[in-house]
Amino acid sequence: MNAPGSPPSIAVVGSGVIGLSAALRLCEAGCKVTVLARERPPQTTSNVAAAYWSPGCTEGPQHKWSLETLRVLEKLAAQHPAFLSPRRFWKLFKRPVADPSLGEGMSRIQRLPQGQLPEGIGDAWGCDTYVIHADRYLAWLTAQLETQGVRFETRELRALSEVPPGFAAIVNASGLGARELVPDAGMYAIRGQVVRVELPGALPLCILNHHEDDVATYVVPRQDDCILGGTYLYREEQRAADEATTAAILERCQRLAPQLQGARILEVKVGLRPGRDAVRLGCERMRDGRPVVHAYGHGPVGFTLSWGCASQVKRLVLETQGMAGTLQA
Ligand SMILES: Cc1cc2nc3c(=O)[nH]c(=O)nc-3n(C[C@H](O)[C@H](O)[C@H](O)COP(=O)(O)OP(=O)(O)OC[C@H]3O[C@@H](n4cnc5c(N)ncnc54)[C@H](O)[C@@H]3O)c2cc1C
Repeated sequence: MNAPGSPPSIAVVGSGVIGLSAALRLCEAGCKVTVLARERPPQTTSNVAAAYWSPGCTEGPQHKWSLETLRVLEKLAAQHPAFLSPRRFWKLFKRPVADPSLGEGMSRIQRLPQGQLPEGIGDAWGCDTYVIHADRYLAWLTAQLETQGVRFETRELRALSEVPPGFAAIVNASGLGARELVPDAGMYAIRGQVVRVELPGALPLCILNHHEDDVATYVVPRQDDCILGGTYLYREEQRAADEATTAAILERCQRLAPQLQGARILEVKVGLRPGRDAVRLGCERMRDGRPVVHAYGHGPVGFTLSWGCASQVKRLVLETQGMAGTLQA
C-alpha cells in the first residue's frame, strides 16, 4: 500500500488501447502507474484494428464515451497527422433508408447524391470522423507513458490475485483475456480478418462501410496504406489468416472501390475482438480487499470508446482511494 501523502500505486493489466489510455489518464491525475501485460504493442489485438472512430455507438453510456473520445481525437489530430487523420465516413445501404442511425453529435451528416453511389449500393449517408493508425498510435501512447515514468512489465497472469501486493488498486483492461482472468464466462471472441494494401493514388480518402446479411465490408484509407475488411465471426478463434477470406475481402472491397484493383497486398492480419454483451466498466473488491476497476469487453469499438472509458476508469480508481475531486480528477 501507499505511504500517507504519496501518490497511489496503480497496476494496469493490459497494454491494448484500453489499458494504455486509462494508464495515461491515471498518470495525469498524479497516480504512479505500472502496466502488466502478456503482450505489448505491436502484438495486441488493438494493433490489428482498422481503428476508425465509429459513429454507430448511439445508446447508453457508450454514446457518452464515444463522444468524449471524438473530442479528444479532434484535439490530437491537429498535432499528430502521422497517426490521426480526419476522414469522411460513408455508411452504405443496399436500399434507400430514411434514418441512417449515425447518432447525435456527428458533424456534416449528409446523403451521397445518387450519381455518386458505388455499384450495387442504393443509399449512402456520411459524417466526419477520424482514422487512427493503430501501430503508430499505440507506440505514441506507450512513449507518452514512458516519459511519465510508467513501468512496463511483460508477464502473463493466471488470475488478478497474482498482481503483486503493494498496489493500492488494479485496473483490469485485459480484453478477451478477462474470460480467464476474472473469470468472465460472458466473454467471447469476434474474429476479424483484415488485408492491408498499398494506397492506390486515385482512391478518395473516405471510409466506406457496408454491413449486410452478416457480411461486413470496409475500406479504410490511412496515411499511406489502406485497410480492407472484414469479418465478424462470433466465437471463432482461429488466429491464422484464411486465404479464401482474404480473396473474398479483396473482391468485395474492389466492388465498392474499383480503384483498389491490383493494389499490392502488404499484410493480412487477424484479431480476436473482446466480445461481451455490454462493456464491463465498474469496480469490485478482490478477496484480499484490493479494489479492481474492470474495463473490458469493448468488442468492435474499443478505439471509439477509449478516452471516455479512460476518464471513467480514472474517476473510479480515484474514488477507491478516497481521492475523488482531488488531484487533477
Ligand atoms: C479487425 C479488427 C478491426 C477493428 N476495427 C475497429 C475500428 O475501426 N474502430 C474501433 O473502435 N475498434 C475496432 N476494433 C476493436 C478494437 O480493436 C478492440 O475493441 C480493442 O482493441 C480492445 O482493446 P483492449 O485494450 O480491451 O484489448 P487488447 O488490445 O486485446 O489488449 C488486451 C491486453 O491485455 C493483455 N492480457 C490479456 N490477458 C492477459 C493475462 N492473462 N495476463 C496479462 N496480460 C493479459 C494482453 O496481452 C493485452 O496487452 C477492431 C478490431 C479488430 C480485430
